[in-house]
This record gives sequence, structure tokens and C-alpha cells, in this order.
Amino acid sequence: MNDSTIHDVMVVGAGPGGLSAAYELARIGLEPLVLERTPAVGDVWRNHYDGLRINSGRLFSGLPGSPFPRSAGPWPARDDMVRLLETLPGRGGFTVRTNVDIETVDYDPVRDLWIAASRDGLRFLARAVVIATGGTRVPVIPDWEGVETFPGEIIHSSAFRNAQAHAGRHVLVVGSGNSAAEIASRLVEHARTVTISVRTPPHILPKSVCGIPLIGIGVATRYLPASWVDGLLAFLQRRFIGDLTSHGLPFPPLRLSRQFARTQVVPILYRPFVEDVRAGRIRVVGPIRKIQGRSVRVFVSIDAARDGQSGMEEALETDVIIAGTGFRTGITELVRIPGVATREDRCTISGDQEIRDAPRLYFIGQFNPLSGLLREIRLEAGRIARRIKDRLGERPDRSGPGPDTERNPP
Ligand SMILES: Cc1cc2nc3c(=O)[nH]c(=O)nc-3n(C[C@H](O)[C@H](O)[C@H](O)COP(=O)(O)OP(=O)(O)OC[C@H]3O[C@@H](n4cnc5c(N)ncnc54)[C@H](O)[C@@H]3O)c2cc1C
Repeated sequence: MNDSTIHDVMVVGAGPGGLSAAYELARIGLEPLVLERTPAVGDVWRNHYDGLRINSGRLFSGLPGSPFPRSAGPWPARDDMVRLLETLPGRGGFTVRTNVDIETVDYDPVRDLWIAASRDGLRFLARAVVIATGGTRVPVIPDWEGVETFPGEIIHSSAFRNAQAHAGRHVLVVGSGNSAAEIASRLVEHARTVTISVRTPPHILPKSVCGIPLIGIGVATRYLPASWVDGLLAFLQRRFIGDLTSHGLPFPPLRLSRQFARTQVVPILYRPFVEDVRAGRIRVVGPIRKIQGRSVRVFVSIDAARDGQSGMEEALETDVIIAGTGFRTGITELVRIPGVATREDRCTISGDQEIRDAPRLYFIGQFNPLSGLLREIRLEAGRIARRIKDRLGERPDRSGPGPDTERNPP
């Protein structure tokens, strides 16, 4: 069914960010049109891997009007999050239109309207728009030399479901973020061998200190100078994680805030990974050089790759490569307004910020501080909703143009 109404506000994406924004919009009396590409609300978390738990802790990860119940324990599971998401529209009194994959969001300056066009030719019109498509919309797998000769399976970490599926295989996990580390660790019990290929030494931190989630420390120190916080985190890494240099993971050369600004990779918080590396159940090697059939040539260490030492390579017989190599936001193709995304496809604004050529366009979930993305989403949602209400109130003439056409030309 086509939608010819001019809505006050539409929200593209119904993950934690979109649902939180919609909840706050509904709470202040607006009726958001919420569009989601998957078949059911909650799919984005339903499709994460088995055994996943929220590492930011129950108290710091609830969404607006939706704290996790006590029964979820200190570290809620994936399914607790799914339940929270599924029930959020009911609690907020709004609905979500699913199976709508928005391809483009454009601004019509003549009518002062936002137009979202779906892949199957529907158009939706609104005065304001919240883009809540997340920071992980487009999985990125590097174009390794010789990749076309690899006869095994190459999957992105976002497509990893469980370790049992890789029983008895030689698995090479690539990357040094939380997902790569956790996946490598989960594979240990099932795969024949697990190797992790790392280019940048990761920051590794305890998930909690004396029972306080690390995110709590992030919250408490958020407004302190970055160098103080980096110093504290370096201390925690040395004190609670220790030196893994002899196992192939030296301390990172850049302090955490700098490394994060450059790579957008959050520190590893998955403790079993550290034990597995120490016990040799996970072997650490440097980055991939090239692929020759089943044989993946890697630098023997991170240092060997950094120094470009020729001859310091080895060949790994590999059945499956799991690429924990990150994502792009996909904002550049989705919102074709100059200035909304950097060359690296990172959003330039977040929360209630606006840019001049894009009035009443907002992004949620694009800024990931150490105090936790879910917490940030909860805070941003309220700010965005209040800003939209103010901005719509400024509108001189609500009658405007009549309903728009319903389908894109073929
Ligand atoms: C494995 C994993 C574990 C994480 N654990 C934590 C944690 O413990 N604590 C924490 O604070 N953060 C965590 N994060 C980070 C972050 O909080 C989550 O990714 C969170 O789900 C982000 O919410 P979001 O709504 O911004 O984006 P997403 O969850 O990615 O949701 C985006 C939604 O938009 C939809 N969508 C995308 N494109 C379109 C389109 N074109 N048209 C219509 N719909 C579209 C998607 O289908 C999806 O439903 C984790 C992330 C991952 C990947």
C-alpha cells in the first residue's frame, strides 16, 4: 500500500536507535512513521550470534521507557534485547512498517519536504526525518590479493551465527575488534585450529572493575580531559589484562582515544579471548599478505608487517575466513546531501545537530563514546524528539502542497 500522506516526521530504521527516537517522538505527541527493512522488529539483534551478551551492562543499556528487567542479570543476553525491542512499539504507542528498505532520502527545497524512496518503488514524505540505520549497515571485507582463488568460505562477522557450524575446520579470523575477538574465542571449542590475523594491536580492557561495568567508568569520566581517561584505561589494561606481547599482541602504540578516532574500533572487552590467547588456543599472526588457493599468506606478526620485513611470512592452510573487518554506514548512498558524510562514510552530525542544507534531518546512533552506544542512543532520542517538536512548531504553513505522487517512475 502506498503512503501519500505528508507525515510530520519519519524514522528510517527500527533498531535500538529508531525505536528510541520513535518512542520519544510519540511521548511528546507526534506520530512518527517508522520504516524498517527487515520482516520483524528486533531482527537486527535476533540475527546476532548465539551466546552474545550486552557488554555495557544492564543498567547502562536500557532504552527510553524500557529498562532491562532485573531477571536479565547484570549482562543481558541477545534475546533479552530482542524482547526489549519487540515490545517497545507497544509501550510507546506507535507502529512500525516493516519490509520497507529505503534506498534514498532526498530533500525537496521547493516544498521543504523530505522524500524517502524504497527499493520497491514506494515514496514517503515528511517534514522531518531521523536516520536510524545504524553504523553497521554495510559489512566491509577487504579485497585481499588472490581472494578469488580461495576455495573455502569467506564470511563477514555479521553473518557468523555459531561456532558449531565450523566444527573441525581451520578458521582464520581477521580483525581486532570485539566481534573478531569474541568469535575467535567461541570457535576454540569447535574448530580444528583458530588463528586471528591482526593489523593494529587492540586495546583490551576488563568488562567491569570491582563489579562496576567499564561503561560506568566511561560515564563518570566523560567530561575529563582525554589524556587523563587514556591514562586511567592504560593503567586498567596493564593491571587487569597484562602484557600479551609474547603471544603476539603488543600494547597499542596509540592511546585509546586517538586509536578510536582513527579506526573507530572499540576496545575488546571479552575476557575469555585473553585466556585463549595466553593458553595458545588462539594463535595471533599479522595481517594477510595474499591468498593462494587454500593457503593464506600472513605476516608472522604485527611487528613484521609494520616494519615490512620481507620473508617474515607464513602460509596458513585455511578452510574458512571470518572477516571481523568492520562496516560502513552506507550514509553516503542513502542521503545524498553534500556534507552529511565524510569520505570514509562517517556521519558528520549526530543527535540534535543539523546542517544548513538539510533542515530537520537528524541522525541517531552514529556517535559511539566509551560510555556506550546504547546509552548514547537513549540520550540522543530525547534530544532529537524535543528538537523536532520545536522545529515543526516554527513551520509557517502546515497546509503546504497537497499529497505527493505515490510511486517512483520505473
Ligand atoms: C554484535 C554487537 C554487539 C553489540 N553490543 C553492544 C553493547 O553491549 N552495548 C552497546 O552499548 N552497544 C553495543 N553494540 C553497538 C550498538 O549499540 C548496536 O549495534 C545497536 O544495535 C545500534 O543500534 P542502531 O539502531 O543505531 O543500529 P542497528 O542496530 O544497526 O539498527 C538499524 C536498523 O535499521 C534498519 N535499516 C538499515 N538500513 C535500512 C534501510 N535502508 N531502510 C530501512 N531500514 C533500514 C536495520 O534493519 C536495523 O533494524 C553492539 C553491536 C554489535 C554489532
